[in-house]
Amino acid sequence: MEYTLNKIVDLLNLEDFSEIYSKADEIRKENVGDIVHIRAILEFSNYCGRKCKYCGLNCTNKSIKRYRMSSEEIISTAFEAAMNGYKTLVLQSGEDAYYTPEILGEIIKSIKKFNIDITLSTGEMDYDSYAHLKECGADRYLLKHETADEDLYQYLHPCGTLKERVQCLKNIKKLGYETGGGFMVGLPNQTAEILAKDILLLKEIGCEMAGIGTYITNPNTELKDSPNGSTDMTKRAVALTRIIMPKIHLPATTSLGVLDAKEKEDVFSCGANVIMQKVTPSKYKALYEIYPSKLSETNIKLQRIKLEDEIKSLNRIPL
Ligand code: SAM
Repeated sequence: MEYTLNKIVDLLNLEDFSEIYSKADEIRKENVGDIVHIRAILEFSNYCGRKCKYCGLNCTNKSIKRYRMSSEEIISTAFEAAMNGYKTLVLQSGEDAYYTPEILGEIIKSIKKFNIDITLSTGEMDYDSYAHLKECGADRYLLKHETADEDLYQYLHPCGTLKERVQCLKNIKKLGYETGGGFMVGLPNQTAEILAKDILLLKEIGCEMAGIGTYITNPNTELKDSPNGSTDMTKRAVALTRIIMPKIHLPATTSLGVLDAKEKEDVFSCGANVIMQKVTPSKYKALYEIYPSKLSETNIKLQRIKLEDEIKSLNRIPL
């Protein structure tokens, strides 16, 4: 079947989505199997130079305390994650110019000695910086396009354009990174047509992974009066992405779990095959407040074991 924009809009608006969820689950099983990839995520700085209207890290938010982890702290946390069975570490931060490509490159080289894959999620950079980080050993890059609608993108992002964001993703792809895009569901003024464009843009770029997260209201941002997005619509977008891009890696995103823990579990039967687990040290974790959420103290070893058990209880295989 050809998944045109209109077809995707019709599907997103279906009253009963159960058949589509089953189809997505079948396609997931056939194409990526029963493994659930567990990624450790280390949020190493909450400084950010951008002004994204939905995000608590944006530089106009004066109510959060900012932190930066030292290279030594980042490397020792990565070591602990690797020693406890993690095979991938996602290094995420706001767009923090303190970490130059040279500094980040040295951190990557040290972490690669622990035989762990590295996903970077540090925002927009020029081509040469992405190239340098790839040469230093980064394997994957996660940069959500956030929304594929130019007007909505411009409204939400005073600091950049959709064209620039997509060009970054194309550069990342060209450099041979495993490329991760993604978008938020439930942004103000978002329509089913915009969501359909989001899914088609992932395909056009050739993303190998996609984070599809529910928008969550942050009271310390300009969008404080925009309600949370729908977890049901998030699952629909995940399921259709699985059907349209059968081999893609799709996480059960953190934001889905923040709104409803049950929905985060359910999304594994709607196409998801990846999960991220925070390994950010407790003293920094609560400060990485993209949106409000309840967080427990970090215990890398015990939380890994607990997550593996949870995945097994879904009849899936943790990796
Ligand atoms: N600076 C990097 C970047 O721009 O890709 C990574 C950090 S950024 C905080 C990570 C992701 O958080 C964004 O891609 C965005 O989708 C998500 N995010 C930010 N604010 C959010 C909110 N209020 N609700 C849901 N997701 C949000």
